[in-house]
Amino acid sequence: MELYSGYINKLVDELASLPGIGNKSAQRLAFHLVGMPQERVDRLAKVMMEAKAKVRYCKKCFTLTDSEVCPICSKPGRNQKLIMVVENSRDLAAYEKTGKYEGVYHVLHGAISPMIGIGPGDIKIKELVERCAEDVEEVILATNSSLEGETTAMYISKLLKPMGIKVTRIASGVPVGGDLEYIDEVTLSRALDGRVEL
Ligand code: ZN
Repeated sequence: MELYSGYINKLVDELASLPGIGNKSAQRLAFHLVGMPQERVDRLAKVMMEAKAKVRYCKKCFTLTDSEVCPICSKPGRNQKLIMVVENSRDLAAYEKTGKYEGVYHVLHGAISPMIGIGPGDIKIKELVERCAEDVEEVILATNSSLEGETTAMYISKLLKPMGIKVTRIASGVPVGGDLEYIDEVTLSRALDGRVEL
């Protein structure tokens, strides 16, 4: 005998497959959703579908954006010769919040992780190398200080240094394995200022 309706079970399964949502949270959310007024459920479903349909990668830095080129890449005054490499758009947002960085970014959308089968070809490394064929002075590697982040930084460094590009790594002080987005702005500013050449 099924405890809940089949529809509830399906909803719980979908929610539980999202990152950071366990089975208990999924159940709580599912019951909350079916109890919500119809118009709020419609609105939620609509914004999810709109976001999925309209959001795309910036053709320069690959961050998530609504336009062909994101607001940061198209902003006059940003130094296009200084590129900070981050793992995802949330990390970009964390650095952007410091207000101290005037270069542009490159979003990898992941990190090299042989353990779960993510190789260099699965993230935006080739696209970074292509960007660096143009006039680039420095690439700051701001991947996480996890094993995957360090592996990715080393891999990219080996590709870019022979091209004559200055490659730097953000200073330690960013907690090991810490997600960049949870680190305060002062710590991020210091990590950026204290970057060292590889
Ligand atoms: Zn961009």
